[in-house]
Amino acid sequence: MFNKILIANRGEIACRIIKTAKKMGVLTVAVYSDADKDALHVHMADEAIYLGPSPSRESYLLGDNVIAAAIKTGAQAIHPGYGFLSENAEFCRNCATNNLTFIGPPVQAIEAMGSKSAAKSIMEKAQVPLVPGYHGEDQSSAIIKKAADKMGYPVLLKATAGGGGKGMRQVWSETEFKEGLAAAKREAMSSFGDDTMLVEKYLTQPRHVEIQVFCDNHQNAVYLFERDCSVQRRHQKVIEEAPAFKMSEKLRAQMGESAIKSAQAIGYQGAGTVEFLLDVDGSFYFMEMNTRLQVEHPVTEMISGQDLVEWQLRVAAGETLPKTQEQLILNGHAFEARIYAEDANNDFLPATGKLSLLKTPVESAHVRIDTGVRQGDEVSVYYDPMIAKLIVWDESRDKALKRLSKALSEYRINGVTTNIDFLYNLATSSPFIEEDIDTGFIEKNKALIFNDTKKALLNELPIAALYLVLSIEKSAQQSAQQSNDPHSPWHNANAWRLNEAHTHTLVLAHNDVEYRVEVEQKRQGSDAYYLINLDGEQFDCQGTLDNNSMVVNINGHRSHTTIHRNNNHISLFRANGVFNFIHILPDCGQLDSDDNHGGLTAPMNGTMVSVLVNAGEMVSKEQPLIIMEAMKMEHTIKAPSDGKIEEVYFNAGDMVDGGAELLAFSPLEQE
Ligand code: ADP
Repeated sequence: MFNKILIANRGEIACRIIKTAKKMGVLTVAVYSDADKDALHVHMADEAIYLGPSPSRESYLLGDNVIAAAIKTGAQAIHPGYGFLSENAEFCRNCATNNLTFIGPPVQAIEAMGSKSAAKSIMEKAQVPLVPGYHGEDQSSAIIKKAADKMGYPVLLKATAGGGGKGMRQVWSETEFKEGLAAAKREAMSSFGDDTMLVEKYLTQPRHVEIQVFCDNHQNAVYLFERDCSVQRRHQKVIEEAPAFKMSEKLRAQMGESAIKSAQAIGYQGAGTVEFLLDVDGSFYFMEMNTRLQVEHPVTEMISGQDLVEWQLRVAAGETLPKTQEQLILNGHAFEARIYAEDANNDFLPATGKLSLLKTPVESAHVRIDTGVRQGDEVSVYYDPMIAKLIVWDESRDKALKRLSKALSEYRINGVTTNIDFLYNLATSSPFIEEDIDTGFIEKNKALIFNDTKKALLNELPIAALYLVLSIEKSAQQSAQQSNDPHSPWHNANAWRLNEAHTHTLVLAHNDVEYRVEVEQKRQGSDAYYLINLDGEQFDCQGTLDNNSMVVNINGHRSHTTIHRNNNHISLFRANGVFNFIHILPDCGQLDSDDNHGGLTAPMNGTMVSVLVNAGEMVSKEQPLIIMEAMKMEHTIKAPSDGKIEEVYFNAGDMVDGGAELLAFSPLEQE
């Protein structure tokens, strides 16, 4: 076994690898950029080497600097994690040239899977089932179209160099083909500098089922069961589970054996994942092989009881696989939810900011959290905005799913917008519980899983209002106790001052919409209670507030809420999710510009992709004005109302800071 390894990555995966290395008595070297100088992975490692400035192309992607760091510290091997250099054949080759072991597959396996069409040709020869399609070298439009016409529409065009869902386009009919091909080629060229295309039959209700495989360099190969990763947004995974639901032993064995065949066809070693599309009729088709450890590997660890990073280190050090196929036992069910800093209600726009509050559910045999951040850390613009992976296990899918929703409801994050509500809504939705899932799940179940403002309006607004009233009272009581005359009626905040109206109107904003809530204090004997009026609906409310914790009784329904407050930002953590409100004070009639997403300021640091309007132009409400790219995703800035563009401050290609004003806009006067 190695004495010391370098981890060429950051965040949760670097921390995850360090944990196993520590357990095995292997010393670790971390690498870091400016933004990460105090990051968790740097603190956890035995040593750490500075690589360069924050952008990854100036630090984590500089293979030569990473190799130099390994040589300097005497590390014998490099674990690339996922992303960054993990599937970079040149880096893998340079490790070998410098006598360093690359903890991953041999270079030819990375190369073989680097092109989607070359991979398909290899798998075709190895008799692994493929989605019907064309992946030939002749790239003339007529040939590609002929193949599409022959298999029938819909078809899917894919960039052979593609990844991350880019350069992919569905074409629903022959008439759309020409335009679809041109658009897919454009995107492929701008993302990968290569517009070679393949075309496949587009399956309309497939599941994404992938097999974890492991091979050593002693001719042994096993599969560690499957993961279902069908729940995706922008073709990227959101919640993964293992094993896949509705999976017979026979199908599992067939897919497992096909996956091993795929790995062996390219002389694989180490951990790999063979991704398949599973069609409604039980047919499955090879999609691609990822030649690295996957983000979602923990669900496989939970159901197999194996530590895949330990397996990787052992195989890389030349040992045989720790278990044979017969010794591997599938036990229970696991889910992984990816907790991202992003706004699910705003087209999954990545979010940045300081994690002013970060409290996780308690870890146990049932709940595991893989993370690379602590409270007070910053989610920066430079890297993937994943905050953590929440992994749960239990003996059945039902029980594991209950653990997932409970753990999600216990997650407390503030300072950064997260997708926790969205994940909670998804995990508790009936189609998810009932296994009515394919890759179109999110699109199909939009109404169920995106935050319904009305729901918050009726259940949570009275709680937020009650919280504000109780905290006003509390601070009045505290200042009374500190004053010279604690019994002065002027300190009596119970009824909000003598002779003053007993009804107050509070303005609270939720998801950028403002609500007026009327609160009237009442008294019955010695008990104070409140009548809250919201849009004509009456709520009879009582509550006790103790620091961040409030017990409320609304119309006879008693429940518990944890609150986090940061000035006028109030977050309610409830059993059914997190609800964020802004208390609008009378003298600041509008939302903070920070929270005014989709306004005319840049939502975050990024690049201007295109400016769609000119100074002097009249625009209508919701008209797209500017397209920005931030954290590898495009975001469209739209007109907030009908109006006139007075001035445009940036051009396409410019870098802009988050919060910068992008253009001057005058709304049209209402008549
Ligand atoms: P990338 O490498 O860009 O992530 P993949 O080839 O892995 O692209 O496909 C990503 C996702 O796109 C899959 O998980 C699946 O949801 C969908 N997909 C890919 N190929 C097809 C197909 N032929 N029919 C239907 N959906 C597909």
